[in-house]
Amino acid sequence: MQNSELWQAVLGEIELSGLSRGSFVTWFKNTQMIRYKDGVVVVGVPNVFIKNQLEKKFHDLIVNTLVNNGIRPERVEYKIHTGISPKTVAEEAEEIFINPTSTVTVKATAAVKQPAIANVTHSYRAGLNERYSFENFVVGAGNELAYAACQAIAAKPGTKYNPLFLYGGVGIGKTHLIQAVGNAIMAAKPGAKVIYATTEQFVQEFVDALRFKKNTSDFAGFYRGADVLIVDDVQFLAGKEKIQEEFFHTFNALYQANKQIIMSADKQPKDIPTLEERLRSRFAQGMTIDMQPPDFETRCAILQSKAASQDIRLDQAVTELLASRIHSNIRELEGALNQLLAYCEMHGIEPDMQAVAAIFEGAKDRPKHISPRQIIERTAKHFHISMEDILGPKRDRDIVVPRQIAMYMLRCELHLSFPKIAHELGRKDHTTAIHSIEKIEKEINYDGPIKQFVNEIKERLYA
Ligand code: ADP
Ligand code: MG
Repeated sequence: MQNSELWQAVLGEIELSGLSRGSFVTWFKNTQMIRYKDGVVVVGVPNVFIKNQLEKKFHDLIVNTLVNNGIRPERVEYKIHTGISPKTVAEEAEEIFINPTSTVTVKATAAVKQPAIANVTHSYRAGLNERYSFENFVVGAGNELAYAACQAIAAKPGTKYNPLFLYGGVGIGKTHLIQAVGNAIMAAKPGAKVIYATTEQFVQEFVDALRFKKNTSDFAGFYRGADVLIVDDVQFLAGKEKIQEEFFHTFNALYQANKQIIMSADKQPKDIPTLEERLRSRFAQGMTIDMQPPDFETRCAILQSKAASQDIRLDQAVTELLASRIHSNIRELEGALNQLLAYCEMHGIEPDMQAVAAIFEGAKDRPKHISPRQIIERTAKHFHISMEDILGPKRDRDIVVPRQIAMYMLRCELHLSFPKIAHELGRKDHTTAIHSIEKIEKEINYDGPIKQFVNEIKERLYA
């Protein structure tokens, strides 16, 4: 039997072994057996995240299933196999959660003939989302200056306003604007090396680089090769000394080469605690701009524009009512609008004042019989991790994702505040909760495993 046939048989058996469909797809879909020689089975996996999981959680299952299929390996190894679309680690990990079936299908025959085992390589343009553009950004009091600076940078990156440091509260358009710069530059110059990364991604990749390769030169080289480096939420560098040092060197290398650097944070550099002095002064040496929450008129304009983009005309009174209920966070404003539109579609009615009242009323019906602790326990259990881990400091992805899901569930099921959610999960900073919830919300929109995980957890919770 050929390796590929054998592996198919193994996968078939694993699929029937009691894993949920979502888990099977997530962890095994793009694996293959790339070698079986001298008692060693080498399993090719698409990325480091999956490698980690297979080693930790599914190794025994894999060995036993191989044995059932007549193979008694002395050793099973997992190797990242670049025959399967090279992407950034973060992007791939993200993709696993967003859309497990979208990964490029493995060209089995070619891959078997010529096993290309190597580390994951990076690709530029990572992280940019085309949904964020200047065109769909509503300019108003609070974001005008930031908008103008971003446009100037997009027109001539690396010349003026370098670095650009945007700061302001949550959900007021920082990510939107800095991504819009990246997209505009890519549109004008398709070959440009634009990197958008969240600080969490940067941190995770750095940690992975340390853990899985012996040195960090690939990682460093990738970032230092950028023409434009956009790093979101740099407040998360706080307290991470090693990473700040790495960031400092990346920053200097790019800056000296006149490459554009754009950063965002929830506060200005001088207010980010435990940010090294030398980084603080570097960040502030270009242009620092604060973004303020939108005023009432701008909130109305944003609602109208978002409705219009879905071909829906929103009544002035309805717009004003919504805009008066939500003040500082455009993400929440958007969320309320979407909720309203979904409600109206479901009931076959026009978005009117009653419908607005109904959605704000509905938010108050929360199940009271479920405690935050129960939600966290249920989630931890679902992913086979301990309460200690989910509540503890570990940042491994297989713990971070369940933790983010738990936060999301606390928000959706119990409507807890962000600080309360952070507290329940042993986090000090409530912005972590905001980011986690936002991330899961995004992923829920895709019909991927995360959605399934959440549904499964909910089912059990209320069963
Ligand atoms: P932040 O990064 O500051 O937390 P985001 O950039 O993620 O906020 O914005 C939250 C949501 O609000 C996004 O969906 C974004 O597209 C939208 N948004 C923010 N500001 C505007 C604006 N001025 N015009 C249109 N949409 C906006
Ligand atoms: Mg953001």
